[in-house]
Amino acid sequence: MQSRTAESQQIAEQTAPVLSEAPRAYVIIGTTGEYSDRTEWQVAVVSSEDAAKRYIEALDQQYQQMPPHWQDRRWEYDDEIKAHMSLDPSFECDYTGTSYFYCECPSLSDARIADLLASAREVQSCPGVSETSSAAIKSNVFSAIDGKPIRFTDKLGLVHICEGADVHRGVRLIWTLCERDVPAGKAWKLDKPSMHEVCLICLKRSNERAALASAREVQP
Ligand SMILES: [Zn+2]
Repeated sequence: MQSRTAESQQIAEQTAPVLSEAPRAYVIIGTTGEYSDRTEWQVAVVSSEDAAKRYIEALDQQYQQMPPHWQDRRWEYDDEIKAHMSLDPSFECDYTGTSYFYCECPSLSDARIADLLASAREVQSCPGVSETSSAAIKSNVFSAIDGKPIRFTDKLGLVHICEGADVHRGVRLIWTLCERDVPAGKAWKLDKPSMHEVCLICLKRSNERAALASAREVQP
């Protein structure tokens, strides 16, 4: 019963992250080719999702209106293609054709950047997982609670992938894969895939672990 209470205190709902409250920007991206020949380039950044969709619609239209023989012999018609694709000065086209999509990200004013950098310095000064606790918990580490991956949102709105361990009865420690302590009550359970920006260090380590785990499975 006691450990149950400790857990519900540890795993609270996600706190409102600052960065994710920032106005959004939409980056329109063009892509062509496949596998190692795949290229991407930035076409434009707009301030609404609706504008991004309309721009892509217009790009697709311009692209479809291109005479097919230009694409078949695209090296000969390079100048014509560039002039035709007026909405995309960096236009490229491989045999796979060209397509467009957009991604969303925070759009930061100078004032918000100053705020975020100040709170980032605060976060960095927090102590990491101590040597003694990291030694004590190596044996029973988990990365999900109730089958849901553990996450932590820092002051910048960046989401970190977490692990935890019950060091004593009712004492649960949770930390990020990038080796940051998660304060009690600040971790949350991931219910569905989220659009949040995930910490690159956490992501890299999580991928490395997954690769290691599947390599172990393959071994006889
Ligand atoms: Zn992280």
